Amino acid sequence: MSWDFSTEPEFQEKLDWIDDFVREEVEPLDLAFPDQHYEIAGPGLTGVLEPLKARVKDRGLWACHLEPELGGQGYGQLKLALMNELLGRSGWAPRVFGTQAPDTGNAEIIAKYGTEEQKATYLLPLLNGEMFSCYSMTEPQAGSDPKMFTTRAERDGDEWVINGEKFFSSNARVSSFFIVMAITNPDVSAYRGMSMFLVPADTPGINIVRNVATMYGDAERGSHAWIKYENVRVPATNLLGGEGQAFVIAQTRLGGGRIHHAMRSIAVCNQAFDMMCQRALSRHTQGSLLADKQLVQGQITESWMQIQQLRFMVLHTAWLIDQRTAAGDVSSAGVRKEIAACKVLAARAIHDVVYRAIHLHGALGMSQDTPLARMWQHAPTMGIVDGPTEVHVATVAKQVLKEHQPYEGTWPPYMLPERTEAARARFAEALEHEVGNL
Ligand SMILES: Cc1cc2nc3c(=O)[nH]c(=O)nc-3n(C[C@H](O)[C@H](O)[C@H](O)COP(=O)(O)OP(=O)(O)OC[C@H]3O[C@@H](n4cnc5c(N)ncnc54)[C@H](O)[C@@H]3O)c2cc1C
Repeated sequence: MSWDFSTEPEFQEKLDWIDDFVREEVEPLDLAFPDQHYEIAGPGLTGVLEPLKARVKDRGLWACHLEPELGGQGYGQLKLALMNELLGRSGWAPRVFGTQAPDTGNAEIIAKYGTEEQKATYLLPLLNGEMFSCYSMTEPQAGSDPKMFTTRAERDGDEWVINGEKFFSSNARVSSFFIVMAITNPDVSAYRGMSMFLVPADTPGINIVRNVATMYGDAERGSHAWIKYENVRVPATNLLGGEGQAFVIAQTRLGGGRIHHAMRSIAVCNQAFDMMCQRALSRHTQGSLLADKQLVQGQITESWMQIQQLRFMVLHTAWLIDQRTAAGDVSSAGVRKEIAACKVLAARAIHDVVYRAIHLHGALGMSQDTPLARMWQHAPTMGIVDGPTEVHVATVAKQVLKEHQPYEGTWPPYMLPERTEAARARFAEALEHEVGNL
């Protein structure tokens, strides 16, 4: 086994190309078409977007989260992490590179659990960037605790009939199909009694009550649907994976999604950090540059360390996933602790680094004239999306504790008096000879 923190020159070339391409060609889309990367493109936007996607495909960089047999590059998670550190700078970049959430996660589960027919109908157009998809799991009364979900699917002949409500189903209004999680057997534990369904968007009974906007989105064009599923009928063949497999599938999907979010968060932190440093090196007050003041230096050091900590945790976790995949284990169960830690660190780093960068810019930081305002509006998202920080903190602790054992009796085995006595007895002869020297 070897440890290596360097990037192969051939892949570094690709990263350099991505860096320039995102900066020069993609980031301007964020300014000209803000928040429209989840919209169905009209002729104007299509004319801009398609040539960019073609250049990405020509470079062999399209849909890098997937294996070659599914149209991806099979680079694995480590290379994807290095790419996402660059793509995360732009809202549009994931769409231009075919790695946009939630379509990436949805594609992964259809690839892993779908039948050949399901793959042909849903997966291939998704991979080609020809449609959007929606993941409909959270409910109005329950998000962090899926055991409290109530949406029900009941078998009726060759069909399943779905009834219930879902909340914050992102992109429902533009999606061609939804992946819906519902209870299929209320008599067993939720872990074995829920299933996933592929539901075409035009199925009767899908009633979007409202498209909820986030604090940073256009209030008139919210992206996160509150949906009532009212007697929604799908053929039995639209069950994704086996009956009762929803939890297993959700973990597969959310595991990948969480680490991909964390990878992109590094890009946001780096952007805010660069602005912070530039400002510190340029702004004079009370006789010196901000960069010369020790309290400012403290903020810069804390931010740099936090980003490095996040980056190493993400890269190591990505490397672990690749190692496990190479050994034939494609579930994320073995890296739950690491993925949860990445999610927690990412939420904290974005919050802290963006806040410090804003603070260092003074009034300018409070304005809408720098990218920091938008970053700050996004900052809390990372602590909520795909499960809140508290739940992931608990996951880390539970997994860590599984690696330890309780001791029997009142006194712990690491009590010093007994251990010292035993050590002294072991080295009694040597200690006797050393008496004069001690
Ligand atoms: C931008 C965005 C996009 C989203 N997209 C989707 C989507 O496409 N599909 C989908 O199904 N869902 C989506 N969600 C929903 C998301 O998965 C849920 O918001 C998340 O799981 C939390 O559930 P909740 O909102 O019901 O919060 P709750 O479960 O009510 O939790 C609220 C708060 O309670 C506290 N809390 C909860 N559990 C614990 C605990 N165990 N210990 C201590 N404190 C706790 C935390 O502070 C937490 O933030 C999205 C959310 C956001 C913000």
